[in-house]
Amino acid sequence: MAFENLSERIQKALKNLTGKGKVSEADINAASREIRLALLEADVNFKVVKDFIKKIKERALGQEVQGSLTPGQQIIKIVNDELTKMMGEEAAKLNKAPHIPTIIMMVGLQGTGKTTTVGKLAKYLMDTEKARPLLIAGDIYRPAAIDQLKQIGDQLSVPVFSEDEKDVAKIVADGLAQAKEAKNDYVLIDTAGRLEIDEALMEELERVKAVAKPDNIVLVVDAMTGQVGAQVAETFDKRLDVTGVILTKLDGDTRGGAALSIRAVTGKPILFTGQGEKLSELEGFYPDRMASRILGMGDVLTLIEKAQRDYDAKEAEKVAQKMRENTFDFNDFIDQLEQVQKMGPLDQIMKMLPGMANNPQLKNFSIDEKQIAHTKAIVYSMTEAERQDPDLLKPSRRRRIAAGSGRPIMEVNRMIKQFKQSKEMMQKITSGNTKALAGLPGM
Ligand code: GDP
Repeated sequence: MAFENLSERIQKALKNLTGKGKVSEADINAASREIRLALLEADVNFKVVKDFIKKIKERALGQEVQGSLTPGQQIIKIVNDELTKMMGEEAAKLNKAPHIPTIIMMVGLQGTGKTTTVGKLAKYLMDTEKARPLLIAGDIYRPAAIDQLKQIGDQLSVPVFSEDEKDVAKIVADGLAQAKEAKNDYVLIDTAGRLEIDEALMEELERVKAVAKPDNIVLVVDAMTGQVGAQVAETFDKRLDVTGVILTKLDGDTRGGAALSIRAVTGKPILFTGQGEKLSELEGFYPDRMASRILGMGDVLTLIEKAQRDYDAKEAEKVAQKMRENTFDFNDFIDQLEQVQKMGPLDQIMKMLPGMANNPQLKNFSIDEKQIAHTKAIVYSMTEAERQDPDLLKPSRRRRIAAGSGRPIMEVNRMIKQFKQSKEMMQKITSGNTKALAGLPGM
């Protein structure tokens, strides 16, 4: 999977921050240092890393974190925001011509997957827009490239224009004329690549550009080349003013340096990523989702937003106050259950937590919503006085509650015992005795 190592390291660096009531400057420095190393090892461009870390530090030391109830989580949100920005923020789209055909010129070094990607993009346009594309074989130096494109055309039942001709500009002009005649709505031009950028290649591409007047010049970059890929992109962009990038072979790239550097280095968006050799393996590029993926947060942002929206901070403070004063009763207990339930099915919520989405232990894990309903039924069968004072719950009252709620007496007893225990423990915690936490599972 892409970004595996980076993901793991950044998550580790951030893990030390979560759960802390206060985050010190030293904590932030330590985490920043780790993240910086992780990015450099992922082969992200040095300058991009430097700017990124500077922004993270500035924001982490600022008001939004220091004034927050959950500073660790705020920092994760900042890292997520900045990673998203680094990759371009909004998902980018292909330019569309006001009249047909929309012309897409594909450029890139040899072996990056350019010809395959021409086919993938044609398929994508056919699938999503019912497009009728024409492909032009403009890589005339490698006869194999023309055959390869023809095979792809056969596979997709798409016409491929080629000519036995030395002048690529003429081939492109003739191909475009045919597309206009046949009213194709897209033309995808495959162009020559070289193993390295050279002057002859650039001149040829400039000539093709002049003839084709493309709406899109899409640069194909191999993700496995890391930040070198970003440098190549910069060079192509200077000469041709590319409109966007397709990053291929992301399926084999465990580092992610190219994906993270290209936007920041060139200012040009990543449009799609190639995720395999098959023509269907092309995916739209969404910076926000990619950032979440890197941070291994199933979707912690949604969770934080949900919590901010659904979980009333005043309510939480009221509960804490009741804990301290030892007046937390069954009514408050039900309120708490309802607050948590408002956020949605509990196992879904668990999956939004960092590292939980792929946690094998969660596979067989589901929180029993029924159990919550039973607990509520038991509390609702208590009188108001009993809800406020659990000590009133003598055996005869418990039997009445069991009958009223339709639950076995053992379950009523267990619930009351658990309530008392949690109340005791919560009281210790709110009064600052964190040793009480030692008894909790996972602590
Ligand atoms: P070109 O020289 O740039 O036209 O490159 P090709 O289209 O011939 O592709 C070179 C090799 O990369 C071929 O073996 C492709 O199957 C492979 N390839 C292209 N895109 C991807 C991708 O997204 N993932 C993987 N794993 N392989 C790819």
